[in-house]
Amino acid sequence: MPKAAETVLEINLINLEHNYRYLKGKLKPETKFLGVVKAFAYGSDSVKIAQKLEKLGVDYFAVAYVHEGVQLRDAGIKTPILVLHPQAVNFKILIERCLEPSLYSPKILKEFLEVAKELQQKDYPVHVKFNTGLNRLGFWENDINFILEKLDNRSEIQVTSIFSHLAASEDLKEKEFTLKQIRNFKKIAQEFDKKTDQKPFKHLLNTSGIINYPEAQFDMVRSGIGLYGFGNDAEIDSQLKPVATLKTIISQIHKIEPGETVGYNRAFTSEGYQITATLPIGHADGIGRQYGNGKTYVNVNGQKAAIIGNVCMDMIMIDITNIDCKEGDEVVIFGDNPSAEEFASTSKTISYELLTSISQRVKRVFIES
Ligand SMILES: *Cc1c(COP(=O)(O)O)cnc(C)c1O
Repeated sequence: MPKAAETVLEINLINLEHNYRYLKGKLKPETKFLGVVKAFAYGSDSVKIAQKLEKLGVDYFAVAYVHEGVQLRDAGIKTPILVLHPQAVNFKILIERCLEPSLYSPKILKEFLEVAKELQQKDYPVHVKFNTGLNRLGFWENDINFILEKLDNRSEIQVTSIFSHLAASEDLKEKEFTLKQIRNFKKIAQEFDKKTDQKPFKHLLNTSGIINYPEAQFDMVRSGIGLYGFGNDAEIDSQLKPVATLKTIISQIHKIEPGETVGYNRAFTSEGYQITATLPIGHADGIGRQYGNGKTYVNVNGQKAAIIGNVCMDMIMIDITNIDCKEGDEVVIFGDNPSAEEFASTSKTISYELLTSISQRVKRVFIES
């Protein structure tokens, strides 16, 4: 790997392929795989990630919003794209760009039917989302008749799939609740199939669901975080490889005297003769202020260096008192060590939030072979 000469987010597409194959290995051969590439593919680069996954033969993509799907279509992605959380204002664009909406409420179903009719669609593919306990988005079980009444004698849309989302698939203490969600979903699916001849395919599991509830694969699974190297479980994490590595370099080194302070509001006070390094990365790059003041470490030539004082917009300062390093040396913020999960956990958050926070100011570089 090339040494960083500025702050970069290194995206390792070889590791992405490894994770994809690992997760595929958990599935029955006929189970379809949906790659979740919302939020810039969890903060990496949705176009590059989607291009690689398309080459590997992924069956579906999902994004949260319509404009994320448009970006993939602009880049030439041909695979079906499910838009998990579309808003009616974008339905025309959605249809023009062959994106497939999740329809999650009576209101959004009616709004989509109107636009589909206006644009004279026939059998436009849609995905109906049911709420089985997350209580976030989705129809309730007893909305089935309403949905079917709406679809009766109309040919504008075709229910391609029905799906739901687990609330706590990573938390085995909630196993009973999860099993109840799985049973609910099965019941909804059976009722839907009994009452219509649309024969939608079914999907429920996210990454942790694939790991913990393989019996609930149905026809497709939806994986995001696993593709990027995390499984919400130390054992699984050891099998996956991180796709994103955030690196920077040492801009300047300072030797400070006992009692001197470092950074805004003089938040750090030196206890003795200490050495600090300033790095060109800050909260505008996605390293939030919660990581300052000694809680979090970065990796300087294999050694742990604490982030000291307040995180600035474009800089952080680290303590390198006992570390052999010089100006221009590479610093790993997260990657193999510390992992994004370890880094995030120092301020009680999760890899998902840290990864998706890395701002668009940070240059992305790709490792492809
Ligand atoms: C984000 C999302 C996923 C992916 O979850 P991971 O835990 O990252 O695998 C799957 N399904 C839905 C509905 C989502 O919103």
